[in-house]
Amino acid sequence: MVPDSAEAKEAQLQEWDFSHSWHPFAQMQEYTSVPPIHIASGEGVWLVDAAGRRYLDGTASIWTNVHGHNDPDLNQALRDQLDRVAHSTMLGLSHPTGSTLAAKLAQIAPGDLNRSFFSDNGSNAVEIALKMSFQFWQLRGRPEKTKVISMRHSYHGDTFGTMAVGDSGLFHDRFRPWFFPVDTFPAPTCHERNGQILAAESASSLASLEALLEQQADRTSCLILEPSVQGAGGMLQQPPGFARQVADLCQRHQVHLIMDEVFVGFGRLGPLLVCSEEGITPDFLCLAKGLTAGYLPLAATVVREPIYQEFLGPYESYRAFFHGHTFTGNPLAAAVALASIRKLEPMITSGEVERTIAAFGASLESAFAHHPHVRQVRQRGLTAAIELTPDAARPESFPIRLRAGLQVCLNARQHGLLLRPLGDTLLLVPPIRISGEELNLLTERTLAAINQTLPNLVLR
Ligand code: PLP
Repeated sequence: MVPDSAEAKEAQLQEWDFSHSWHPFAQMQEYTSVPPIHIASGEGVWLVDAAGRRYLDGTASIWTNVHGHNDPDLNQALRDQLDRVAHSTMLGLSHPTGSTLAAKLAQIAPGDLNRSFFSDNGSNAVEIALKMSFQFWQLRGRPEKTKVISMRHSYHGDTFGTMAVGDSGLFHDRFRPWFFPVDTFPAPTCHERNGQILAAESASSLASLEALLEQQADRTSCLILEPSVQGAGGMLQQPPGFARQVADLCQRHQVHLIMDEVFVGFGRLGPLLVCSEEGITPDFLCLAKGLTAGYLPLAATVVREPIYQEFLGPYESYRAFFHGHTFTGNPLAAAVALASIRKLEPMITSGEVERTIAAFGASLESAFAHHPHVRQVRQRGLTAAIELTPDAARPESFPIRLRAGLQVCLNARQHGLLLRPLGDTLLLVPPIRISGEELNLLTERTLAAINQTLPNLVLR
């Protein structure tokens, strides 16, 4: 029973949350030390909590939201599908929305990326690509091609396969005994903000990769890459053209390329897909997050046609890909994905997204380019990282125990802004449809939170 008054309801929800929920990526001792926020509704870039307080969604609800919350067109697509059927399996059956979405993804993906294998989150999209690559080489009579190459600082999810190919240090280290072996190569460096590349270096990264491929390609199945920006690594950027050079090396050495566009796809960096923009046809393209504009869980592993063909044969050849998830290709999620892509395409071609990106860059530049507590601002597309420091003129960092990044984000709540830190780096990832005025609010409120929080921490 939920009590009547607003305060009593909030207290009840807090009690239930603190007593019965376990939140992702949270030190629960820390989480339960501050009042929780229960988001009850949303409108555009705004989220509203159970007590009616409004917050700008500065993380696009963990990098997913495209058109804002409660979008009338997406809501309608969802209602239309709901009136037909909410769920029917893709195991042995199909449904009109799933087939239409598969065709749409084949149309927007480059080259012969023609086949979508649906699942329900980004980690699964990557697991599926890895398993398909491994099985492909077995079916091709090359069972020795089992190794994987990935780039340092990458993040591809939290399941065992994706942790093994990722490089999230402390987050995943304790599970290392259960990982399969993976070869890594160094990431390039790049510093871009407000449309300008201030520094970039990729030659040593590419040389290491080439040396690795020369030694190991015969035993390597695939290379996995987050192209252009490594999100969870801290919005680490690659110089333009880097992904293309990696793709060329993979092709030359007959190693599959898995492009993980779970974060960067669907307008986050401007174009619908980074691979199309860079003129690359990877062997596998992993999509999730923005695929449904942040409405519902859905992922797709889009696969090149010749890879798919290798899995065909009589049943008793056991060439089939034995993998599936219960809610694979859920019709509600597929309906909202279709509606979102149809709405996003003209936003991109008309230049609206590019203009939003330019406004984001300019707003960040004026607030943070020379801030005494900001070591570096990186911004590309609608992604930004603001590295906090006690003193921008000195190399020292805040002691971890001060939780400087978290303190800034907690203060931002008082200004009506939701942000999440990565250590002492603020990651700003707004919904793609956001007005210039809202972008300025995002910057102003972030600045106010930094200015109110960090000077006090420096004194401690
Ligand atoms: N790949 C990338 C590049 C991501 O950024 C993420 C999540 O942030 C994932 C994969 C994992 O996606 P999910 O959280 O949906 O499993």
